[in-house]
Amino acid sequence: MKRKPVNVREQDHVTRAGNFSEVVQGYTEEEALGEAVQCLQCKNPVCITGCPVGIDIKKFIGQICAKDYPGAYFTIREKNNFPLICGRVCPAEYQCRKACVLTKKGLPFAGENAINIHFLERFIGDYGRKHNLTAPLKKDDKLASKKVAVVGSGPAGLSCAGELARVGVKVTMYEGLHRPGGVLCYGIPPFRLPQDVMDYEIDYLKTIGVDIIQNVIIGKTKSLDQLFRDGYSAVFLGLGAGTPSFLGIPGENLCNVYSANEFLTRANLMKAYEFPKAHTPINIGAHIIVIGGGNTAMDAARVAVRIQRMKGIEPNVTVVYRRTENELPARRLEIAHAKEEGVKFEFLVAPKAFIGDEYGSVRKLVSLRCRLGEPDSSGRRRPVPIEGSEFEINCDVAVLAIGLQANQILNKATPALKTDKYGDIIVHQETMETSIPNVYAGGDIVGGEGTVIEAMSMGKKAAAAIIAGFLK
Ligand code: FAD
Ligand code: SF4
Repeated sequence: MKRKPVNVREQDHVTRAGNFSEVVQGYTEEEALGEAVQCLQCKNPVCITGCPVGIDIKKFIGQICAKDYPGAYFTIREKNNFPLICGRVCPAEYQCRKACVLTKKGLPFAGENAINIHFLERFIGDYGRKHNLTAPLKKDDKLASKKVAVVGSGPAGLSCAGELARVGVKVTMYEGLHRPGGVLCYGIPPFRLPQDVMDYEIDYLKTIGVDIIQNVIIGKTKSLDQLFRDGYSAVFLGLGAGTPSFLGIPGENLCNVYSANEFLTRANLMKAYEFPKAHTPINIGAHIIVIGGGNTAMDAARVAVRIQRMKGIEPNVTVVYRRTENELPARRLEIAHAKEEGVKFEFLVAPKAFIGDEYGSVRKLVSLRCRLGEPDSSGRRRPVPIEGSEFEINCDVAVLAIGLQANQILNKATPALKTDKYGDIIVHQETMETSIPNVYAGGDIVGGEGTVIEAMSMGKKAAAAIIAGFLK
């Protein structure tokens, strides 16, 4: 069935490319109703199978149609603690929307015909915030004496902490950085996930009793053993994958070659775009290249465009990717937004070396053209460099967004914690318990880079196992 999808309101692309305010403005009530009534309310709602936490999508869309917005909010909250966040950042086109019966089959991601489940979820999340709705607490007296330490305040840690606090467990969350939120705060820019949304979610956790202690690195400031000596009965590790990967090519150490993590942390968390008001400059040049094709690459490119505009520089940002547009792993919405904001793309490019000037600053990227070969272990066709196809791209800033690996500070300080060859923590799949009894883990530190909702789902699973252990 061909339908008429309701487009979401956005800041216009010219204005937004010069500010850090939220791009997507969300549905009005009328728009949400217009989209929701197009859901077929299928007998077999396959969309649910595409949601990593199994939200009853059919039910909450039906409740929107009936204008039962609080009901829709509680339906979502049964499975997902943070609809405000997920409605903004979930890659729905690879998850629930891809599974929707209205999506054209055979595509690697959902097309526009699939119901805009994520925009409807966001509408309900925003409604819940506006009307101060919260999921009911289910305090259990048997748990009141229990203390759990959560290490890392990204989506995995936030979700685990929320589930535990709701039943009355005393939770202390330790975060190495000066702000809680993990990637949601330091990686994803405020034009996709505004800080006030994060503050709202984190303040809620505080109101239900979660203590957040910032600027403490477990494994350095305090050991894992010390946490148990401090009286915690269990520990959850949501350490994330915060270690950037590098290309290992000549010239990578030249000035103005950044990892995307550093670039985004300086811009988002430390507000480099307000320099000198904020003391964290990033050098912004006339020709910026971003190497990679995931969400991190799109975020870095769109931040770079904005800072160029704010500094009065004509935007000139190019994303360099070794496969084609079809294989770009980023959310399709971010790719479309990046293009609208003036980001250029060079596909089928394999970087070979950076060339610098006499001051040691990057000036060019030397690369080979590629063609697509056979599929690799990820199922995507492998890029094969073409001999003799060398060419150069001018650049005075380069940002590497080619992947992230396990954050290993705690792992290395704790030899009893079993990890795999990538440094990811090995857990029991049912309980998320690690090789150390009463130590649980989840999120990107288990199984590598994933998504926000997957990290939340693992945090929730670990919380359920911790609670079950306490109630035994
Ligand atoms: P993180 O979010 O990485 O949080 C881990 C936290 O633990 C950090 O705050 C870190 O400082 C802290 N920590 C680590 N070690 C210690 C220690 N020893 N002591 C104390 N604290 C510690 N996913 C999506 O679904 N949609 C998107 O649009 C999207 N965009 C992304 C954009 C970027 C730039 C990046 C990098 C990722 C993006 N992702 C996206 C992926 C998603 O953000 C991650 O999968 C998710 O954040 C993982 O959550 P986490 O809780 O495991 O770890
Ligand atoms: Fe059916 Fe799609 Fe509606 Fe789910 S969202 S009930 S799959 S039409």
